[in-house]
Amino acid sequence: LAGEEASVVPEPVSTADGRPIEVAANVGSAAELPPAIDRGADGVGLFRTEFLFLDRESPPDETEQYEAVVAALEAFPKDRIVVRTLDVGGDKRVPYLDLPEEPNPFLGRRGIRLSLEEHADLFETQLRALLRAAARGGGGDGDRDRGGDGDAGDLAVMFPMVSRVEEVDAALDRVESVAADLADEGAAYAVPELGAMIETPAASYMADALAGRLDFLSVGTNDLAGYVMAADRENDGVADYHDPLHPAVLRAIDRTTRGAEETDAWVGMCGEMAGDPALTELLVGLGLDELSMSAVTVPAVKTRVREVDAAAARDLAEAALACETRAEVRDVLSLDG
Ligand code: PEP
Ligand code: MG
Repeated sequence: LAGEEASVVPEPVSTADGRPIEVAANVGSAAELPPAIDRGADGVGLFRTEFLFLDRESPPDETEQYEAVVAALEAFPKDRIVVRTLDVGGDKRVPYLDLPEEPNPFLGRRGIRLSLEEHADLFETQLRALLRAAARGGGGDGDRDRGGDGDAGDLAVMFPMVSRVEEVDAALDRVESVAADLADEGAAYAVPELGAMIETPAASYMADALAGRLDFLSVGTNDLAGYVMAADRENDGVADYHDPLHPAVLRAIDRTTRGAEETDAWVGMCGEMAGDPALTELLVGLGLDELSMSAVTVPAVKTRVREVDAAAARDLAEAALACETRAEVRDVLSLDG
């Protein structure tokens, strides 16, 4: 597709045979909201809150976080904004947070682990800001109704780097206790849709249990490919291993969507893989309901979704899942190399 400029498709899209696929944007700063709107994104599928914590000396307070999230909700009055709670640790360092020094940070305390332990205070502040912001949105009823007449979109909140069901139970407890505090204070709040990122093999194996507790799952293929293939995403020496087209990674994604099948939870993908239009048919076939990507690829992926036939896509996915090597997968997808 290199060099081809797809035109912007402002409305939500469905496959040629009518399956709706939400195509959303990943946003890493407030400045990325307007380009996401211009490119026709159906809301935000990954709002990386880390940016609020970077380039400063102390964490943002509740008001600042609340305002940042409300600004995103107002930018997309008819859509959903999926905000990820603070995801630091691993490759993501924030000097003033005094993160633990560890020999292997990728296998150490990161994401939800820090939020539940060392940084429970920051997590509580963030949840307070998020539940208050949710009251400004459509209310988190989980439907895909874009016709609401409010002035702000629906908030959804997801937890990064989940590896145990207990973490989700603990996070849901924190949400409940923050909601109780806000109720006692007489503050306006709502409980948003809640979800988990699927970025570890453990989470993919436990997807059914996670989906049973949550409103949605979102596959983070950048980390998932790294953990499935035991290949550091930052290390060029193992870049060949760190590829979501290895059949093992595809099977982890498939396990996730199948795990959620018996539940009401929807499944999205917000890793880089979601933004490659050459993979859209495969991802529709793997059962993803939502794809979230860097805004620049939204038009091409929306265009591609409309061409795809969901039944044929499932056959393609089955063929890819039956492969034993990445080369075979690329062959099935008619990709070069
Ligand atoms: C991912 O791991 O795929 C992801 C979307 O999260 P991040 O790249 O921010 O770690
Ligand atoms: Mg990640």
